[in-house]
Amino acid sequence: MIQIQALPAFSDNYIWLLQDMTSKRCAVVDPGDAEPVLTWLAHNPEWRLTDILVTHHHADHTGGVEQLKRVSGARVYGPAAENTPVRDVSLADNDQLTVLGLTFTVYAVPGHTLGHIAFYHADSRTPLLFSGDTLFAAGCGRLFEGTPEQMHHSLSRLAELSDNTLVYCAHEYTLSNLRFAVAVEPNNPDVIQRFEQVTQWRHENRISLPSNLALERKTNPFLRADVPAVKKKADERNGADNSTPVAVFAALRAWKDKF
Ligand code: ZN
Ligand code: FE
Repeated sequence: MIQIQALPAFSDNYIWLLQDMTSKRCAVVDPGDAEPVLTWLAHNPEWRLTDILVTHHHADHTGGVEQLKRVSGARVYGPAAENTPVRDVSLADNDQLTVLGLTFTVYAVPGHTLGHIAFYHADSRTPLLFSGDTLFAAGCGRLFEGTPEQMHHSLSRLAELSDNTLVYCAHEYTLSNLRFAVAVEPNNPDVIQRFEQVTQWRHENRISLPSNLALERKTNPFLRADVPAVKKKADERNGADNSTPVAVFAALRAWKDKF
């Protein structure tokens, strides 16, 4: 049985900690800083860190990898198309890996960075998706390296996963993403309700994650570029006829960059 918890890092990153309760082995996803993981391990000395998963090369996701590997000997998995410090296993689209007894499939999801990958564990009850900085709760990552076409395609692939897929992204950006979602779809009751709920959670200093794909499809504007009301709003914003979902997506992303 696997338990998952967030180790907060920096101002708004989460390092996901996966614990196999039977073997007392654990894994982390995107340790941008070693310190929160080392602190947790120090407080939980019976646990052994065996695997480190990396979604993309940005320092807030990789900064702790080298030190954690040095002290634990953990195996480091990272995208084949990017440099990951002390990587043991290079992963490309559709590759499979087994971590703590769970099989994960790799999704190449270029856009935020060109080599960005996501990790998906298929399971009938609780499928898991570690989406890094690609799919955020109610948002998506900035296009630092890729094109709108690439990111739209990447998000579309993730959006096809089943409704009950739990989405573990790497940042607590949900509330600001929902402020934007409200601006895009002021008449979408699911967006309004989620905005109110996450406002309350954040007021109580509670984490807003994981999300799930059913909720993302209903409230994440970047998964809704094919919705007529979203297209209409995108057209209003950039004064164009955004005739394809990719064009709508590009207009939304450009708007959000300055929102
Ligand atoms: Zn990033
Ligand atoms: Fe990041």
